Amino acid sequence: MAYADLHIHSSFSSDGTSDIETILRYTAEQTDLSIIAITDHNEIAGALLAEKLAPTYGLQVVTGSEVSTSEGHLLALFIRERVPAGMPLYETLMYVKKMGGTCIVPHPGARFTSSVSLTKIHTMLADAQASQVLSGMEIFNAGLLRTNSNAQAANFALEHEIGMVASSDAHIYRCIGNGATGFVGSTLDELRHALEMHQTHILRHYPDSTRNIIGGWLYHRLVRSSRQVLKRTSVQAT
Ligand SMILES: [Zn+2]
Ligand SMILES: [Zn+2]
Repeated sequence: MAYADLHIHSSFSSDGTSDIETILRYTAEQTDLSIIAITDHNEIAGALLAEKLAPTYGLQVVTGSEVSTSEGHLLALFIRERVPAGMPLYETLMYVKKMGGTCIVPHPGARFTSSVSLTKIHTMLADAQASQVLSGMEIFNAGLLRTNSNAQAANFALEHEIGMVASSDAHIYRCIGNGATGFVGSTLDELRHALEMHQTHILRHYPDSTRNIIGGWLYHRLVRSSRQVLKRTSVQAT
């Protein structure tokens, strides 16, 4: 059994705060995860860099992206290129299918963040094409301020043919591993197989306190924006 956190943002994301090296070092030294997915918003450069650096840290990386479809966020995993934002959910699923990737719905039905509804997931699962590429849904997302949608998602997943995943949705490195998915095996291929066969096991639910998440995020944003101001100032000065 190995553990994977399949929803992590880096500083390549519009709202991520930690650089790739920090994410890899923290994961290797402070967690027992062997696989992580870097899933920046509508971006893949951070994931590709993480994949390149991962062997140095004894880790494996799933290259992914959290794509803003017109009907809510969608995690596209095992992809090599950016997926365009703004397309309807069905078209995005078909796009990822063509690329050879697979998809997970993050924070389904959650309020205050752009989320695919449970009704929409139901419609996709009834479609022969879409259901092939929609392998899972988060039944636990550690980044949500209101967690009642996690319970609703879990009930839905238990009644439907879809894999279950728990993720951190970490925007700061200290939250990595607050949600993680267990699977039998150790390789990326075995993880993908477990996802597509709906055989993942949800083993980790370690939500950080909301105060820690918000406090940590604000702190890192502040450090990041002051660094950008310093950089701009030094560029202007030269
Ligand atoms: Zn999201
Ligand atoms: Zn996210």
